[in-house]
Amino acid sequence: MKKALLFLILFPILLFFILITIRPTPQQLTEYLIAPKSKPASNELSVQFLGNTNLLFSDGTTHLLTDGFFSRPGAPELLSGEISPNRQMIIADLKRANITKLDALIPVHSHFDHAMDVGLVAEMTGAKLLGSSSTINIGKGYGLPAEQMQIPPLNTPIAIGKFKLTFIASRHWQYPDEAQRARLLDQDIEAPIVTPASIYDYKEGISYTLLIQHDSTKFVVQGSAGYKKEAIPTFDADILFLSIAGLESMDDAYNQDYQTHVIDAVHPEVLVPIHWDDFTVPLSKGLKTTSVLFKWLYGGDLGKAFEIVEANNLSKNRTIKVLPLWKPIKMSELISTE
Ligand SMILES: [Zn+2]
Repeated sequence: MKKALLFLILFPILLFFILITIRPTPQQLTEYLIAPKSKPASNELSVQFLGNTNLLFSDGTTHLLTDGFFSRPGAPELLSGEISPNRQMIIADLKRANITKLDALIPVHSHFDHAMDVGLVAEMTGAKLLGSSSTINIGKGYGLPAEQMQIPPLNTPIAIGKFKLTFIASRHWQYPDEAQRARLLDQDIEAPIVTPASIYDYKEGISYTLLIQHDSTKFVVQGSAGYKKEAIPTFDADILFLSIAGLESMDDAYNQDYQTHVIDAVHPEVLVPIHWDDFTVPLSKGLKTTSVLFKWLYGGDLGKAFEIVEANNLSKNRTIKVLPLWKPIKMSELISTE
């Protein structure tokens, strides 16, 4: 009798443990993973992937970072309802990425998994925070001085060193769950956020498509798998850093529109998937895919997301390249077909 009771108690715990530990890894992640052939020279345009949609672009003189999200609160913190930036983790990750100074910090939108850490990261690196009024309210809540923050104009290029950036208002991926959509999308953060805060305080603000040009190299960052029809002006990108999370939960019409109004709209030669790793795992543990539990609860299926991107792009002579964590990669190497 006692044994049966013990089994009844232990079995769900064991099952939960198994479900959060098993992380299906689609073969595409290894197939498309690239390794840097050589280190970028000090004045060479490079990109460094730092998990989720953190991308560091540098030409040796000017350094731009999207998001700067390193705290990556785990499931227990997320479930507790209150989250805060993790200073130690931010310091450790900036150090590991060799980041001491940034010219601009650019969250792709204002959800916590992109913009929660902007105050600390901007303060530690001297970066100017560029983002929507929602993002600025995160900076304000932290206490960043007004002169260190700016709302960029839409559709008009701004120059930061040799980088020319155009901010386009796009749309966020549409959560299949209506309640999530109602709480997190198409809303602004109306007042400064002081942490600890709820993940639901971090409203979307504007979801951007970033068009970036550096000399003759053109690239695009799409930080969420959403689209606005006809939003992107003529742009002939070499590389598209493409958010692929959640495509597997969308219907064919949605994915076809994402293809037409984001991917095909910028004519990339190379697609670099972003927003595919489990952002509740610290970066110090490496990039991990989401667990079986996540798959069960939310229908997450990275392999399927890859298949959708492959089906719509490989026949158009586009290559897919997965970036390793931490390692700076020459942009010229990323574009090269060798
Ligand atoms: Zn988001």
